[in-house]
Amino acid sequence: MTDAARPPAICPFPKVFPSQLHRDDAFYMSLAYNQAIEAWREDEVPVGAVIELGGEVIAAAHNQVDGTRDPTAHAEILAMTQAARIVGDWRLSGATLYVTKEPCPMCSGATLMARLKRVVFAMGDPKMGCLGGATDLNALPEINHHLELTRGVMETECRDLLQAYFQLKRLEKE
Ligand SMILES: [Zn+2]
Repeated sequence: MTDAARPPAICPFPKVFPSQLHRDDAFYMSLAYNQAIEAWREDEVPVGAVIELGGEVIAAAHNQVDGTRDPTAHAEILAMTQAARIVGDWRLSGATLYVTKEPCPMCSGATLMARLKRVVFAMGDPKMGCLGGATDLNALPEINHHLELTRGVMETECRDLLQAYFQLKRLEKE
């Protein structure tokens, strides 16, 4: 289907508005979830990411592979690039990445290369996830940096969003 023939991307999911006062993992994941909704509104696979450092969000991005025609334009990569610009260093030491789906091989590798302190993801990905789903790059015995990992934050919401998107895409094709 060409871009011109595409129907408007209607996302039936509303954004969430978490309290700013209680900045826990669910708070930051809510912001990543809202980024995923932004992706859907642009007819991209709804995956979103934010990066937290010192209690502040220093980067927020969503998947843009189709729009940019760039296979590396995943939410995590875009967020890490933004964060590195803000920090002024490729080392994102002390920062935490929140992402709605377990990072793929490329993004899992990048989180290690960026020396992130922590990665928090919502839903696991047994097919392509490389932080424990399909394989675990963080468990490579010889690497000199390891991530703290937390999985399952807002898992149901992020899975429902992604599944609904793919369901719609399947219906559009029929
Ligand atoms: Zn990725």
